[in-house]
Amino acid sequence: MTAKPAGTASGRPSSVGAACSRPRKLLTKARAAEVIDRLARCYPDARCALDHGSVFELLVSVVLSAQTTDVSVNKVTPALFAAWPDAAALAGADPAAVQEVIRTIGMYRQKASNIVRLSQKLLEDFGGEVPQDFDLLQTLPGVGRKSANVVLSVGFGEERLAVDTHVFRVANRIGLCDEPTPEKTELALVKRLPEGRLSESHHYLIWHGRRVCHARKPACDACVLPDLCRSFGRL
Ligand code: SF4
Repeated sequence: MTAKPAGTASGRPSSVGAACSRPRKLLTKARAAEVIDRLARCYPDARCALDHGSVFELLVSVVLSAQTTDVSVNKVTPALFAAWPDAAALAGADPAAVQEVIRTIGMYRQKASNIVRLSQKLLEDFGGEVPQDFDLLQTLPGVGRKSANVVLSVGFGEERLAVDTHVFRVANRIGLCDEPTPEKTELALVKRLPEGRLSESHHYLIWHGRRVCHARKPACDACVLPDLCRSFGRL
């Protein structure tokens, strides 16, 4: 965390003690906007943590990052893209050779197959370019709704909200939404979060989930949202 909102010396809002006034239901749009404002002040450098130099590299990195940390993906992609820098090169790669380069990440055999077949499909169907289209992206091996949203948001600058495990957990805990699945969470957040701030909100919620609102034991005492979060002190 690099900054805290104005309030007490600890950086927490001065209304932190007003537990009885904490909202128990969904946050209003105004309160949701306040959540995003505070997280924006906490994480001014929030961005995509996958290193990439092109939309193709971003797409491949996103596919590799499934159920794997971004840090571990960033360790293998320099060698991967040095050997196979674009879709044309990776489409002709021997999957066994790709496996060797990415073998330190989870599910590397399946992922090697996915990124080679993905590259072949990019060549065959899209002239070697990554399509800027939500539905077309999801026709690529290893690319689902979340990955397509990340590519469109980070790679093409579209206003999109990808819901990964952190966004899903944190948004529902706080009360930004109350949904049972990532897809329903995405659709609910699109309606509730401030217009024009979806992409940045995605990064704030991920960073907050990684640094403070941990899956097993959220660090509520260090959180800047105690008066807004409906789960404060209840987990
Ligand atoms: S108050 Fe606790 S549960 Fe709520 S967002 Fe902060 S860390 Fe997560």
